Amino acid sequence: MRCRCAGARTVTTSGPDAASLPDAASAPALVPASSAASAQVPGEGSRPDLGTQQVLPVSGGSEGADAPGLVLDPAGHGVAAWHRGILGLQAVLRPLPWRQTRAPWPVMVSEVMLQQTQAVRVVGPWIDFVSQFPDPAACAAAPAGAVVRAWAGLGYNRRAVQLRAAAAAMVERHSSQVPADLHELLALPGIGPYTARAVLAFAYEQDVAVVDTNVRRVLSRSVLGRRTAPREFQALADALVPPGQGWAWNQGIVELGATICTSRAPRCRRCPLERHCQWQAAGRPDPDPAVGTSVQAPFAGSDRQGRGRLVQRLRSGPLAAGTLAAAAGWPDDPGRAERVAGMLVADGLVVRDQSGTLRLA
Ligand code: SF4
Repeated sequence: MRCRCAGARTVTTSGPDAASLPDAASAPALVPASSAASAQVPGEGSRPDLGTQQVLPVSGGSEGADAPGLVLDPAGHGVAAWHRGILGLQAVLRPLPWRQTRAPWPVMVSEVMLQQTQAVRVVGPWIDFVSQFPDPAACAAAPAGAVVRAWAGLGYNRRAVQLRAAAAAMVERHSSQVPADLHELLALPGIGPYTARAVLAFAYEQDVAVVDTNVRRVLSRSVLGRRTAPREFQALADALVPPGQGWAWNQGIVELGATICTSRAPRCRRCPLERHCQWQAAGRPDPDPAVGTSVQAPFAGSDRQGRGRLVQRLRSGPLAAGTLAAAAGWPDDPGRAERVAGMLVADGLVVRDQSGTLRLA
């Protein structure tokens, strides 16, 4: 699992196709043998002694300096209970191909693609993309239009342009290598705190925590049992990473949030944290602590939807100015279509000639 020799092309031969991957509805119970055994300990009074109650100061940065200490698991199981439950998920992780490599560029590509796109939809495009652009230099040297075309099926095409810009920056500043430093990653175009930490955790196996919507949901329900300010999550998540286990911990908690501790219907009976979950122990009262932890805005009717329609249309060829509004899906609102098209031009995805015709860059 710790081999760093698996390049992109090697990965493509071992990865499953999208059709073979279980979705959330058909995923197996995320209770590996060791955790399942512990979950069968009879009687509430005979819970195993998994460690003493622990209080995490959550003061790892200036943002967390004012946060109060967090009392984990008042039942007395301690942090070890979470560690055992989450780390045990390694045995049942979905065999997503980017989990078979530690090559930094393919890992970075996967993390950018996975932003706001389901894993099963990313598998095919990821395999094609890293085959076509196996390193930052190849991506940086390609025309923007070629990178956007390779992004087909994923949406949020601006991510493709930003990834290409990040690749160009790595060619210029880091000898075409993906940096292994948080600040250097954050300085790359389009690379935010989540993606930077994901590269460190999943490529370089550093003990940093990734915090996405799935992780926020699991932490707010199981560890906190209450809603909290977004700034509190990163400090809490960092404090929970077991030393030397950053890769397995982060993969496990992301998997749990994606397949079991889901937004609308958490399947607590299949969850290895069931006996240690604050919200479950309280009888899952309203409001759900996870409500409000997602930062995802509705897609339908959004500018993003119009952007996606325009880019999809442009993949088949140039678009005359007079057909812009219809192609964006807003035939009665040409002003909005023009504004969104202007954003695509400003982002470098699209160019406009003197007649007003649009085409991919
Ligand atoms: S017990 Fe239920 S609510 Fe708690 S972490 Fe597991 S799935 Fe989520």
